[in-house]
Amino acid sequence: MSIPTLITGASQLLTLGGRGARRGAALANVGLIKNGAVLISDGLIVAVGPYAQVQAHALARAAQRLDAAGRVVLPGFVDSHTHLIHAASRAGEYEVRITGASYEEIAKRGGGILNSVNKLRAATSDTLKRRALSALKQFAAYGTTTIEAKSGYGLDLASELKTLKLHKELLTEQPLDIVSTFLGAHVIPAEFRRRPSGAKEYISLLIDKLLPEIAAQKLAEFCDVFCERGAFNLAQSKQILEAGKRYGLRPRIHSEQLSRTGGTQLAVKLGAASCDHLEKIDRADIGALAKSKTVATLLPGCDFHLGLKQYAPARDLIDAGAIVALATDYNPGTSPTVSMPMILSLACTQLRMTPAEAISAATINPAYSLGCEKQIGSLEVGKLADISIFDVDDYREIPYYFGMNTCHTTIKRGQIVYFKSSLGTN
Ligand SMILES: [Zn+2]
Repeated sequence: MSIPTLITGASQLLTLGGRGARRGAALANVGLIKNGAVLISDGLIVAVGPYAQVQAHALARAAQRLDAAGRVVLPGFVDSHTHLIHAASRAGEYEVRITGASYEEIAKRGGGILNSVNKLRAATSDTLKRRALSALKQFAAYGTTTIEAKSGYGLDLASELKTLKLHKELLTEQPLDIVSTFLGAHVIPAEFRRRPSGAKEYISLLIDKLLPEIAAQKLAEFCDVFCERGAFNLAQSKQILEAGKRYGLRPRIHSEQLSRTGGTQLAVKLGAASCDHLEKIDRADIGALAKSKTVATLLPGCDFHLGLKQYAPARDLIDAGAIVALATDYNPGTSPTVSMPMILSLACTQLRMTPAEAISAATINPAYSLGCEKQIGSLEVGKLADISIFDVDDYREIPYYFGMNTCHTTIKRGQIVYFKSSLGTN
C-alpha cells in the first residue's frame, strides 16, 4: 500500500456527491463544503468532507499532506465528446470561413471532414500517437481526467481500426482514462460517393466488416453516427446504431447540429447514452430528452469557433428536466480546444447556465453518459481520486476568467499528473 495523501486547505471543496446524474434544479447542487479535505489511498478516495471529520480517519495521521492553500478543489472534468486522433489542424479552412464560406460549402468542395480523412490515412500510427499524447497532456493541464475519444477520420477498414487501436494503446501509455467510440459513420468517404450505391456499400462495410472486428477485439464501448444532411440520414443512422447495439456497443449520436433530422428522438427510442450538439432541437425533442435517460451533451465550442449565432437551448433542456452535459468536441474542424474551463465560460455566457450548473454538466453528468458514474464524476468514498485544483478563491471564477488557465494541479487516480509551477506551466 502506498502512503495515503490528505488534501487540505481548500477554500471550497465541490464534491458533486450524493445524487448521481443531475436534472433540473439539482444541476445547481455542487455539494460545496468550506474548508473541506480529501483523503486518498491507493488511488481511491477513502474519506471526503469537512477537514475536522476527514483528519479523524485512521489513515489520515500517516498521510502526506497536499495543501490546496485556499484554492478550489473539485472532481476532474469528464470530457465526454472528443475526436482525439487526427493528423493536422484545419487552420486554412478557418481563414476561408472567416472570409465568407460556410462550413457546409467547404465540406462540399472536399474540405471539412474529408480533408482530415485524407491526412489521417496518410499518417503513421506513431505520428498520430505523438500528436494525441501532446493533446492529452494539455487536457490534463486544464483539469480534465477522463475523455471519450471517437474514431471517424479513417473511414476505411484499416484506418478506423488504426484509430481505435490507438485509443487502447494511449490508455496504457499515459495517465488519463480514454473511453473509445466507433464513429465510422462520420461521413461517407469520397471513394464511395462516386458510386450510385456507394452509401449502401459503405454502410455494409461498417456493419458487416468493421463492427464484428471491433467487437471481437474490444476496441470500442460506444457506436456513434453523424446524423445530418450531407452525412447520414435518419434511416441510415437507425440501421447503423441498431447494428452497433447487436455487437454490444451502446449508441451515441451527433444530432440536430446544422439541421433538424429527427436524430434526437431516434436516439431516445434506441436508449442512446447521449445525444450531442442539439442546436436545432424543437419542443418535442426537448420533451423526449427530459423523459429519458439519454444525456443532452452540448458543445458550445463548435458554435463559438464556427461563429454561429444559434447555441443549443440549454435553459429549456434544464428546465424541462433533461440530463445536460458539456464537452469540448475537441476536433480540428469545428472545435479545436481541449479546455473545459473555456467551455464552462461559453456555457455561462452563451447558454445562460450558472457556474454551478456548468460544473455539474462537466463532471457527474458526462460521467453518467459514459457509464462511469460509479467510478468518476464526483468526490465520494470508493471513487477514483480524480481531482482538479483551481487557483481561484471561488468556484464561480473558473468560468469567469475566460481564455485563461487557472488550473493549478490535476490528480488522476491519486497521482499528480499536472502541476503549474511558479515559472509557468509544466
Ligand atoms: Zn463531434
